[in-house]
Amino acid sequence: MEKQEALLSQRPTQDIVSRQSGKCSRCGRKLTDPVSIQRGMGPVCWTACKGDVFERDLEADEKEWQRRERELRQGAEWDFGCNWTYAPSPDRLPVSIRISIRYSREKETFEVYGHVPGEGEIIFGASADVKTAWQIAVNAGPRCEAEAYRTIRAARRRSRRVA
Ligand SMILES: [Zn+2]
Repeated sequence: MEKQEALLSQRPTQDIVSRQSGKCSRCGRKLTDPVSIQRGMGPVCWTACKGDVFERDLEADEKEWQRRERELRQGAEWDFGCNWTYAPSPDRLPVSIRISIRYSREKETFEVYGHVPGEGEIIFGASADVKTAWQIAVNAGPRCEAEAYRTIRAARRRSRRVA
C-alpha cells in the first residue's frame, strides 16, 4: 500500500485527473479509495478492463526508464500488446485497437496513440516526460474498455426497448 501511494504521488496526472468524476467509469458506482479515484475505476472493473496487465510497467527502476526513453527517442515504438475494445460511437460496432507510445521529434513529446480500423489514429495524450506518457498509456486501454462496455450496454437496452 505504501509503495502504491508513493507511486501515486510521483505521477503527474493532469490529463487523467481531468476526466475524473469520483465515479467508476465502467459501472458508475461512487469511488472512495484514492487509488481507484486516480484510476477512475473500482478494483473489480479495473481488473475486468485488464487494467492490471500493464500497470506493473510503472514500477520500473531508473535504469529501465532511461532505456525506454532512449529507445523511444531512437524511433522505437512501445506496443501495449493486447487488443483493447473501443467503441467509436453508440451506433457503431466496437472495434479492437492496439495502444502504443512513440516519440515525436517535431513536438518533442512522447505520444500515446491508437489506430482505429476504418477511422485512423487517435491520440490519447502526450507528454515530454516518459513516465507521464506511460501512465497515460496504462490508463488508455482500460478507459476504452470501460467506455465500450457502457456503450454496448446502452445499445442493448435500447434494442430491448424496441423489441
Ligand atoms: Zn465499477
